Amino acid sequence: MTPFNPVTFRSQFPALHDAGVYLDSAATALKPQVVIDATQQFYSLSAGTVHRSQFAEAQKLTARYEQARGQVADLIHAASPLEIVWTRGTTDAINLVANSWLRPRLQPGDEILVSRAEHHANLVPWLMLAAQTGARVVEWPLNAQLLPDMTLLPTLLTAKTRLLAVSQMSNVTGGGPDLAQVIALARSVGAKVMVDGAQGIVHNAPDVQQLDIDFYAFSGHKLYGPMGIGALYGKAALLEEMQPSQGGGKMLTNVSFTGFTPQPVPWRFEAGTPNVAGVIGLSAALEWLQTIDLAGAERWSQQLASQTAEQLAQIAGYRSFRCGNSSLLSFTIDSVHHSDIVTLLAESGIALRAGQHCAQPLMAALGVSGTLRASFAPYNNQQDAEALVSALHHALDILAD
Ligand code: PMP
Repeated sequence: MTPFNPVTFRSQFPALHDAGVYLDSAATALKPQVVIDATQQFYSLSAGTVHRSQFAEAQKLTARYEQARGQVADLIHAASPLEIVWTRGTTDAINLVANSWLRPRLQPGDEILVSRAEHHANLVPWLMLAAQTGARVVEWPLNAQLLPDMTLLPTLLTAKTRLLAVSQMSNVTGGGPDLAQVIALARSVGAKVMVDGAQGIVHNAPDVQQLDIDFYAFSGHKLYGPMGIGALYGKAALLEEMQPSQGGGKMLTNVSFTGFTPQPVPWRFEAGTPNVAGVIGLSAALEWLQTIDLAGAERWSQQLASQTAEQLAQIAGYRSFRCGNSSLLSFTIDSVHHSDIVTLLAESGIALRAGQHCAQPLMAALGVSGTLRASFAPYNNQQDAEALVSALHHALDILAD
């Protein structure tokens, strides 16, 4: 593998050819040409769909679709491709765990422990479930470093805790707890752990077996793949315990007016015609990622973020919510509203996000109504970093007038 080269890497992203400064990769990553080509080829050259038709093209497609499941299993070191369920993304995967695994196991008074740093996708499904079953969502607060507070965990985990929901990496701070420690503590009360890997997988694909993760969710679109495709990893024994929460074509082996027999896992969770183009695009992204020096790429984006953070820190009223050396920079500028700044930055051609980042409870914990968030990816360069700093100064000058 050749060492990471930022110029070569950047050249693979056609969306960057028309200038513009893209600093919103935590929302969604841009797509390299290989992913665009794979998706386009699927629509222009493939015939049929998967797991349904007998003709050769459709059979080939089914093999490709199932092979991609194996690629995901390899990426996160799952024991088998059968532990990977295709979903629409992280949100869909977490809702599947909520409805198919946790719901039938919840009794009134049971507890679901959720970190305060969670994206709404890893909070609202548990709130919905709690409201429907009489269970309780318990908050796991953050420490001064903006990470879920490990010192509180032993007392928050009780005999009533059925599930602990936590993200590998926050989409606001870029930080996350030591998963091995979290999981070991959860085990001591018999709780299962749902890890939201939407951000984490981009920076550090986990070894789900070594960490002993029960459920892990991620979205393809943050990992250079298409939108509308993602995956749920579940330990085989847990997936076996789950009944499907969606019924439809191909999730069953027999059906009559008295009932149906579900397919084995994972297919019983994949009712209806799946997103085959998404799977093929994601498969292309994963194949391509294997050719990239990911450690070098990560160092590059972290370095750009650090250098930018140093310059931003010189601005009066700058307040940072960045954990460690994350490539994600969340910040506010005292007495200037984030929406005003982001509007002016957009006028200068800088794409970044401002607001609550689907993490309202986290914003409340930080004591802010929202933040600006510049998320650096390996396709960003020095000019992008400089453009952000200079456009921000320009915006603040205008707002000061
Ligand atoms: N969790 C985190 C930490 C995220 O950043 C996101 C995407 N913003 C999600 C969950 C939800 O992902 P998706 O919208 O792709 O389902």
